[in-house]
Amino acid sequence: MEEMRFESKYRDKFVTRTINHAQPRPSWWRVRIEELVEEMKKVKKGKLEIITRTPGDFPVFAVSYGKTSPHRKVNWPSATGSPNPSVYANNDPQVIMAVAGIHSEECEGIVTLLNLISLLETGKDLRGKENPHLVELCSHYRLVILPCVNMDGRAVAPDCLCGCTHDDYLPLHSVLKNGEQLKWPALKEYFPMPMDELSQLGTYYNSEGYNIMLDCAPGNIKTPEAKAILQLADRERVDCFLNFHSCGGGSHVIPPSHLNYPRNMKTVFDIRNAWLEKQGRETDKEMKVRDGQSDINVAVTLATGAVALTFEMDALTLEPFDNKLKYGYDLLEAAMEHGLKEPLCPRNELLGK
Ligand SMILES: [Zn+2]
Repeated sequence: MEEMRFESKYRDKFVTRTINHAQPRPSWWRVRIEELVEEMKKVKKGKLEIITRTPGDFPVFAVSYGKTSPHRKVNWPSATGSPNPSVYANNDPQVIMAVAGIHSEECEGIVTLLNLISLLETGKDLRGKENPHLVELCSHYRLVILPCVNMDGRAVAPDCLCGCTHDDYLPLHSVLKNGEQLKWPALKEYFPMPMDELSQLGTYYNSEGYNIMLDCAPGNIKTPEAKAILQLADRERVDCFLNFHSCGGGSHVIPPSHLNYPRNMKTVFDIRNAWLEKQGRETDKEMKVRDGQSDINVAVTLATGAVALTFEMDALTLEPFDNKLKYGYDLLEAAMEHGLKEPLCPRNELLGK
């Protein structure tokens, strides 16, 4: 792979990767661009692809494992009108796509997926530890893994936020030239960010100021990253889309959105409860449904029918780094165990057929 340089006309609007109070990371917490590239060079059993390049000219990697299934030449919208929507994808094995680093400072998912790739390549994760149960589960699926989508942001984002406070974290956010800090969620009033009005972009976005998570308006997708995710999801006919993020509160699976098939909402509810159970936490008795916020998960579902969920891992709380990895493994296991009990995306059932 060629040497990489960050090419962006907005380079001066990016903060550097230091942040107050962040704990030193362990050696297996590999999240810098050069470390991601090194891990990708080790891929032998999986198939490595560069699915697009970012505006900053970094590659976006995808690594896949498991065999592909034959597909009919039909898109999902057309198949939904047919008597048998499953012609779109009768996947055997089922296909799970896992993506991380859409928001580049949210490292926990990147670490989880790089460690998963190491497990699948060598039988050991980057700590040198085995996880035979997870590896066995993976053998029942085709897996498509995007360890870090927002490579532009990753080039300057910190290695971790573990031990930081919300105030420490603030310097990563966008700042207008008049000094006003744009805070989440009010910063979502911009798409893209008003680059010429900013003194600092922050690491939430790609280098042109786009939030890839929300780049999902049909017919008007702006970023190469979002386009590549949606095209890959359709090419792979994914059954399940796992979107790894990090947050400032406790780790959680975001409840299903109103904008989905009821059957998929139930599956998200079930996986959410299975994950809570693995933490020894109380499960939800009734399905919580979040508002109708649209995002790339919704777009993946529109394109493929797949069940899609967002997993938020706690970035700030000071706790052993190993625990963070365990939460990520638990989510992967919860989804894969569920998929062995019942199909993750029974497409005829989604349409009531
Ligand atoms: Zn996020």
